[in-house]
Amino acid sequence: QLLLSRDVTALAQAEAMRRDFVANVSHEIRTPLTVLSGFIETLQTLDLKPEDRVKFLDLMSTQASRMQGLVNDLLTLSQLEGSPLPLMTEQFMLSELMGAAEAEAKGLSVANSVEGRLTQTLRFEMSQEWRLIGSRHEIYSAVTNLINNAVRYTPQDGTVTCIWAQLPDQRLQFSVQDTGPGIAPEHLPRLTERFYRVDRSRSRESGGTGLGLAITKHVAQRHGGALRIESQLGAGSTFMLVLPASRRVQALP
Ligand code: ADP
Repeated sequence: QLLLSRDVTALAQAEAMRRDFVANVSHEIRTPLTVLSGFIETLQTLDLKPEDRVKFLDLMSTQASRMQGLVNDLLTLSQLEGSPLPLMTEQFMLSELMGAAEAEAKGLSVANSVEGRLTQTLRFEMSQEWRLIGSRHEIYSAVTNLINNAVRYTPQDGTVTCIWAQLPDQRLQFSVQDTGPGIAPEHLPRLTERFYRVDRSRSRESGGTGLGLAITKHVAQRHGGALRIESQLGAGSTFMLVLPASRRVQALP
């Protein structure tokens, strides 16, 4: 007689993860979809005043943007999972990438402010120019996810400081420090899980999908780097993207 035993823990875990993921995506899409269908029905059946019509259309547009953001992040994640590792031949200048990221952050900060002007202090520092070896598209998405989170979760009179620096061991670090609410220690290990949020309503209200940090961690790992998070409740947060020295080329002055 032959007794065959097989450890299927990993398989069962993968299957459970897949089920959770599908359930999460469906849930995330269902909410804005329900709101949208409700408004469509209202517009079809009621004879609304023009100002109410405009208000409803604005709300519909917010929900449509939310679904668009979710689909974009899902596509980014599936591309990251399905594509080969970034080539060592693609290179780009960090100052150019940061110029675009800074403009995006300022736009987001103004859009979020009640006064319609820049009230947060946004600082961008780079001690010198570097050329980076890797996917510009992926690094841009990782960097802007961290900056945009800091802008979204920091109060209107708060400060966000973004710094590129070389570590003593030659690695390159991008850090984003904010004066936001901070994160309790029990949440820190789970932040990069897909759809994990500390404060659901706050994330959704500010256009969050719950996928940003999962994308950022993926990008860091695909470039041989890592994502580090330090935070204390009530004392702000620092998110750090650390890249290996092999990804950095010192640019000529
Ligand atoms: P989201 O789209 O919800 O922001 P992320 O994956 O980018 O999703 O972040 C996951 C969660 O981590 C957020 O919902 C939020 O609770 C928390 N978080 C991320 N960045 C910050 C920050 N700078 N300050 C406080 N909390 C943050």
